[in-house]
Amino acid sequence: MSRPLARLAAPLAAALTSLQALAGTPFDFDAAPGRLPKSVVPLDYSLAVVPDIGAGTIAGTESVRLRVRAPSRAIVFNSLNERLTDVRFDGAPVAAVDSDDARQLTTVTLAQAAPVGEHTLSFSYTGKLETQPHGLFVQTYLSFDGSHGQLLSTKMESTDARRMFPCWDEPAFRSTFELTVTVPAAWATVSNMPVARRELHGGQAIATFERSPGMPSYLIEFTAGDLAHIDSRVGATQVGIWAVRGREPDGQVALADAQLILADYNEYFGYEFPLPKLDSIAVPGGFSGAMENWGAITYNDQLLLLGANSTLADRQAEFAVQAHEIAHQWNGDLVTMGWWDDLWLNESFAAWRGAAETDRRNPSWKWWERQDASREFAMRSDSRLSTHPIQQPVADELQAANAFDEITYEKGQSVLRMLESYLGPEVFRDGVRRYVRARALSNATAADLWSALAAASGQDVGQLARDWTEQSGFPLVSVAASCARGARTITLAQRRFLLQAAAQDGGHWSIPLRIRAGSEAPHAQLLSRDGEQGAAGRCHEPLTVNADAIGFYRVKYDAATLAANTRAFGAMADGDRIALLDDSWALALAGQQSLSSYLALASAMGKNRDARAWEQIAASLGTLEHYARGSRGHAAFAAAARSMVRPVADSLGWDPQPGETPDVARLRRTLLVDLGAWDDARVLAEARRRFARFVTDRSAIRPDDQETILAVVMRSADAATFGQLHAIARAETDETAQRRDFAALMQVGDPALAAQAAQIALSEEIPPQAAAIRLRLVVLLAGRHPALAWRTFREHADMLLAPNPKYAPLITAQHVPEYFWEGAPPEEIEQWVRARLPAEMAPNIARGMETVQALRAERAALTPAADAWVAEAPWHRGGGRW
Ligand SMILES: [Zn+2]
Repeated sequence: MSRPLARLAAPLAAALTSLQALAGTPFDFDAAPGRLPKSVVPLDYSLAVVPDIGAGTIAGTESVRLRVRAPSRAIVFNSLNERLTDVRFDGAPVAAVDSDDARQLTTVTLAQAAPVGEHTLSFSYTGKLETQPHGLFVQTYLSFDGSHGQLLSTKMESTDARRMFPCWDEPAFRSTFELTVTVPAAWATVSNMPVARRELHGGQAIATFERSPGMPSYLIEFTAGDLAHIDSRVGATQVGIWAVRGREPDGQVALADAQLILADYNEYFGYEFPLPKLDSIAVPGGFSGAMENWGAITYNDQLLLLGANSTLADRQAEFAVQAHEIAHQWNGDLVTMGWWDDLWLNESFAAWRGAAETDRRNPSWKWWERQDASREFAMRSDSRLSTHPIQQPVADELQAANAFDEITYEKGQSVLRMLESYLGPEVFRDGVRRYVRARALSNATAADLWSALAAASGQDVGQLARDWTEQSGFPLVSVAASCARGARTITLAQRRFLLQAAAQDGGHWSIPLRIRAGSEAPHAQLLSRDGEQGAAGRCHEPLTVNADAIGFYRVKYDAATLAANTRAFGAMADGDRIALLDDSWALALAGQQSLSSYLALASAMGKNRDARAWEQIAASLGTLEHYARGSRGHAAFAAAARSMVRPVADSLGWDPQPGETPDVARLRRTLLVDLGAWDDARVLAEARRRFARFVTDRSAIRPDDQETILAVVMRSADAATFGQLHAIARAETDETAQRRDFAALMQVGDPALAAQAAQIALSEEIPPQAAAIRLRLVVLLAGRHPALAWRTFREHADMLLAPNPKYAPLITAQHVPEYFWEGAPPEEIEQWVRARLPAEMAPNIARGMETVQALRAERAALTPAADAWVAEAPWHRGGGRW
């Protein structure tokens, strides 16, 4: 699963049961946590489903071959909104059937205990056809030609297969499935396996898919509609891209990428993709990410299809999300975590492998450098007291959705990369191959992975890795250098890094340092105890102990080393420079180093044009400028920020230069947006001039630049300008372009126009398949109009959260407080959140509210520090260049 809201949020301790993985034992079916008894297990399902869109119902018949492992009178499995009839065990009616929707369980009671051995449970049932993306749902969409269409699709993870059919809906219960569906005869059908037979009965088609290999229920997929596809092959595997008929040509790039990625992974994992085909389905609307159903990945169509209005960012997202979802075909589908506490075995792995593949196949994108932003995002959450370990207890499967957060994804990705770097890529790959081979078509725990990596490397990987996966937070390494005849010796120590709480003992990590002095190649040192020393080059040279920013830790250097690093800053290796910027900024936020030492580094960039470093600087200046709004020092700070980035922006100009790499193009757009936000008169005027041409000629601004220019223009738009863009958005027939226009409208500066923008976000102008973007639009509005955005969200929360049924509780608890923290007092937000959520979400709410308190403290501390920096800045004393 890709995370739909990842970039919009920043910053769980549940209870009990899942001690299996945490205790570090290999997968064992009987010991796997879960609510369902293991005395009766499914082996094979034959399932026939007849959806009725008009009535909103599902009629099904189901026959499950079971193994009774211990004599049992009761058979317990999951169900939700289903009513079972004609329930038979080995052909004979059963004594009682009780379906409890509150507990999402059905208990079938037999007249007498079933003996050990194979048996058959069969029944008919009626269920609910969903209208939101969970279980089997119907999706209404507006086509590019103006017509309305409908299709059926599924979204099962974590616990929604039970909404489509009664089943053992926990990941350890792998079974084979044979699915039969009845749909309108003109519709195409896609599922995990190819169609085995298809019969027409009047206006209806009955399609039966081939029986699947053993798999967990959360990976079942079924889509049907007026779809068409393009396809190709990789070895024995048929690779297809499906879309609403007429849009399938926009899947050409995705098809080529899927072939490339699949072939690479066959090689990397050393285990051929085991199904006969791999389909990718572009669902118009549905949920806003993608889901790795085995052999039939579903994507929000905006992520998979690329048309004339798509940008390089769209292309990058298409590749990266495919690389993530296809990695899941091994990590998740072929080998499934035993229980949701090891969700990271799915998600951290897919995040890491997907990023590595994206970087490998697209070197000009500098993908790992860009992933630094993901690492920072995770570190920010993980430097709060209320964070949680990568491996965390999940009390029951209904809590599983709350684990899909930046710790599982972004921290997990970084920690795996650090481990790969420490063991060496070949050794790590060998370990992954051993793990996949050993656990194929079955389940696994972290211990299974550690033992495979240990076998490959000859090292006790588990001991090192568990510091990072079973422990909350991460360390701050302090470096104290001493000099003797120019030779530097460093003394190292560690403690947990926390943004707000006072420094405290607690937490200890085995830290794989990568030390680089001057321009030499980095060398590794495993820091395991305080006071360790090492030689580190010459005293005047720059020094990093997190070379290339690969480690998931922060570093604080002594004053002399920091000064040496600041002097040589512009010439350091890109990754080293970024690590220094990230750490200095975080130390300033935590009050552990002055803001001015961060700004001194930023000022030392000189002529260096490293895009990620400048993006980091622009984002930090943007935060400071945002906090200063409404304060007396705001104008002076905005001027200082402008003068800091202006030379870079001037050198990059407005239009691409020949041979320009994607990261530089991205930097140009970032800086223009920021200069616009900081009221740079020249940028505002040029953006308005370009917009005026765009109004009469939509091709006047390249798609890649539209987001930038529209955002700048909207900041200072009057009613006429706002109306022009609104009219363009309404008339737009391409959804990609239309989404961009709507997003720009939300960035309007004028309060009265912002109120209009809020109404647009709630209106029917948003096509049905784009319902999930409404929340994003309201969050965008919060940038300039926090109180309006909070009010709008609070009054329409049900509507705004409905398209995200799985994540709604997590979004409400952890993200909503952060989105709207400037829109209302913390008490009001907390009270509102508590009233909407059950008591077991308390740890998540604590995380959300800790973020709010931290942001408030940050604003209070940084604003005067920024003022002081402006007052002391050398150019200011020299007469005010700006
Ligand atoms: Zn995923």
